[in-house]
Amino acid sequence: MSVERVIFHVDMDAFFVSVEEIFDPTLKGKPVVVGGLAHERGVVAAASYEVRKFGVHSAMPLRHAYRLCPQAVFIPGHPDRYRSYSRQVRAVLDDFSPQVKMASIDEAYLDMTGSKRLLGPPLNVANSLHETIKEKIRLPCSIGIGTSRLVAKIASDMAKPNGILSVLPGAEDRFLAPLDVARIPGVGKVSQENLCKYGIHKIGQLTRLQEEHLRSIWGKAGVSLVAKSRGLDVDMWSSPGMSVPDKPKSISHETTFRDDTTKQDLIDATLVKLVQLVGRRLRGYGLHGRTIQLKLRYADFKTITRARTLIRSTQLDTVILASIRELFSQNWNEDKAIRLLGVQIGSLETTSGQLDWIDDPRDRKWKQALEATDAVRNRFGESSIGLASAMKNAHQERVHENTVDVPERKLE
Ligand SMILES: [Mg+2]
Repeated sequence: MSVERVIFHVDMDAFFVSVEEIFDPTLKGKPVVVGGLAHERGVVAAASYEVRKFGVHSAMPLRHAYRLCPQAVFIPGHPDRYRSYSRQVRAVLDDFSPQVKMASIDEAYLDMTGSKRLLGPPLNVANSLHETIKEKIRLPCSIGIGTSRLVAKIASDMAKPNGILSVLPGAEDRFLAPLDVARIPGVGKVSQENLCKYGIHKIGQLTRLQEEHLRSIWGKAGVSLVAKSRGLDVDMWSSPGMSVPDKPKSISHETTFRDDTTKQDLIDATLVKLVQLVGRRLRGYGLHGRTIQLKLRYADFKTITRARTLIRSTQLDTVILASIRELFSQNWNEDKAIRLLGVQIGSLETTSGQLDWIDDPRDRKWKQALEATDAVRNRFGESSIGLASAMKNAHQERVHENTVDVPERKLE
């Protein structure tokens, strides 16, 4: 007989808001929005439970949130604080299981299989984990317990806020069947609407469908959806919805300044931000790029693009940035104001075949640091689109990142 897996999903409650409350306890119990000021162009990164009552939720434009709840406190946010608290949470989790997988900055999966003899029944362990996080870090979280990551994640979601929910082995179907399909990780609005067209609203309806039927409609994604509806772990880390997007040929970001500029620090902060955006997407796809291209448009609309090719492909911000800065300093005519800047990375290849490069311990360390911060940027990223207004944040980010031990690497 195989051993039942015991998986915990630990998810911090309104993480960014809770961290802000530690620094300013007067925020407690108030409607709070983290992500930017009310008039800014970005989106909500986190919403307190009080403000959610007004219909505010993350990823919503800040101005929309303001319309729904003008009395809310709007905070631009402190990514450095969130990263530091995330590390503290991680340290506590490590005390409870040798197998911790951070899924983002504020959630993690713990494999607790086999911990019973050492620590006791899972529910008791979850209780003491919950207490420890509250006492040591002063942050609330919710914990889901299940035989798969999928069930554990859905359980923690339903336990929110500040709760624990355990789905006993064998009870998965009964637990999942009455839930909306949107509860399945990876099923977003579009997928939900697609399923709705076929009259599928609840997870239980999916379970009853023939795999072949779903395969004929949605191919592989349909098959994995059926597996998920049964509480099984399939492509949990990569499923974006009903369709898997093709890998891109190149990745680029560009921004137009609100006012044409010759200001060195603004220009450099913008290049940093653009590189971060490109790097984040590159890593999101698991790709490395070799060709790095700068696009520069002057106030008179004259546009130049300049590229260079690296000897080895990279997915590191530091490496991309070094090339971009060099291309920029070589090509900018300092008398002329800049209207637009763009960064592109091309000649993309998958990670495989790059093992020597990945396995350099210094790179690995830096890569892990980036992956952790990517999780923050996945939430904050959208606000970076309004770059001109986000410049203050760009400077903050740089200050933070310069403290990280950046490996030196010769490119040529
Ligand atoms: Mg959370």
